[in-house]
Amino acid sequence: MKTLPYPVALVSLLAICLSGVTLPAAAWSNHALGTWQALSATLASSRTPDVRVESLESFLTAEGHALEPLLRQEEQWARAHVPEYPQRPEALAFVASADAGQNRQRFLAALRINPQAKLQLYLQLRPGADVTGETLLPWSAVTTLQHSASVMNAHFLRLQEAQSVAALEVVASASDEPDYGLDLGLWENNPGAQALGYGFGKQPFGNPALEYSSQAPFHMGFFHESPIVYKAAGFLRRTYPQYRIHLYQTLASHALRSGHPYWGWRFAGWALHYVQDLTQPYHTKVLPGVSVPRMLWINALDLMGAHGSKQEVVTRVSNRHAALENYQYRRMRAAYQRKDSADARHEDALLQAARDKPDDAQYAAYTADSVRQNISLQSHDAADATDAALEQLLPEKTVSDPHYVFGETEPEIDLFAVLAAASPQQQAHMTDMVSGLMHHFGAQSRSFMQTLLPPKT
Ligand SMILES: [Zn+2]
Repeated sequence: MKTLPYPVALVSLLAICLSGVTLPAAAWSNHALGTWQALSATLASSRTPDVRVESLESFLTAEGHALEPLLRQEEQWARAHVPEYPQRPEALAFVASADAGQNRQRFLAALRINPQAKLQLYLQLRPGADVTGETLLPWSAVTTLQHSASVMNAHFLRLQEAQSVAALEVVASASDEPDYGLDLGLWENNPGAQALGYGFGKQPFGNPALEYSSQAPFHMGFFHESPIVYKAAGFLRRTYPQYRIHLYQTLASHALRSGHPYWGWRFAGWALHYVQDLTQPYHTKVLPGVSVPRMLWINALDLMGAHGSKQEVVTRVSNRHAALENYQYRRMRAAYQRKDSADARHEDALLQAARDKPDDAQYAAYTADSVRQNISLQSHDAADATDAALEQLLPEKTVSDPHYVFGETEPEIDLFAVLAAASPQQQAHMTDMVSGLMHHFGAQSRSFMQTLLPPKT
């Protein structure tokens, strides 16, 4: 009998673990909740003037010709700096048009984002905000997704061109936007994507037939796996947050310099989204809590016909990923709804953690290498401890029962409410763990934003 080499076995485990069936593709549910805190001082109205709302078409009409060389250089940068970069086909190089509709279409194609992306003029409102008398957009006007609990729970204020808005609100709203369908359906084996000719190749992992799974390789960064894992599952090298961040950072910087601050801050928020995604440990380590020898052993069992262990690992990782997001989202949303504020004595710890900045100076200044060498490494290194804490602190069924599917078995589960019944020690441990992650989220967000702010005088 021929024995399968380890790498082949590992591919099957990893491929299944990363299949869209079980993979929550958001990292932090509703990035705006964290961004409002993280940048509340950095982008305070006293330091950053309000900006005039501008449609994408107006921006492209004004800057189209300048964007041609800018995007050409950006493509050269990506080819030189992003490992495994799937080159943008020449046919998609941005060429400005006198026709506004065509300009928009060409721009989305040059960025290689979902041509159906809504890109409305809107702001997300804080949970608990009084919306009486406001002109709201239905949630389906901002996203291409058919279902997204955190988007469906949010309120979106419709903006008009030339209206004046605060930079912080633009960045915070935009920091959630890449989860509204911008990166969906772009791989050549996604339904209908062949016609786009985006040149990304086949979806590296996940189930290409499932809508939401297709964005994962842009929102995750598996840069710190062990060599045997890459040897076995080379597709793990094909994750591209670095490409998205640099592209949107370049556009933001250009728009800010050329007198289009609304789009400057909106692109900045898009870039920020991917930086923040990489502060989520389940986005930077493929199987938190599972050692490589254990992965190999589970696969050996699987190949001998004992599939139980593999299925358990898949369910567990996916459930814990979703459980962490559920707790963080529900807790922060509740804090906004209660209107916790910085000067109140009992402000929620997660809001404080995203905002606290005494040790910001210890965080390295952001450079293009930070994505791989610093931000993703920090959360990767926190992954096993995060996983262990979730196992210890959350209800066993939600994080360890292989028959429990998070978000389906109990669609309305609120782990923040559930934890309120736990012992004070357990609650404190959970608070410390998630606060630590939110602190990274905030500090890395500020570090990135410094690249777009004028130098301090
Ligand atoms: Zn994301």
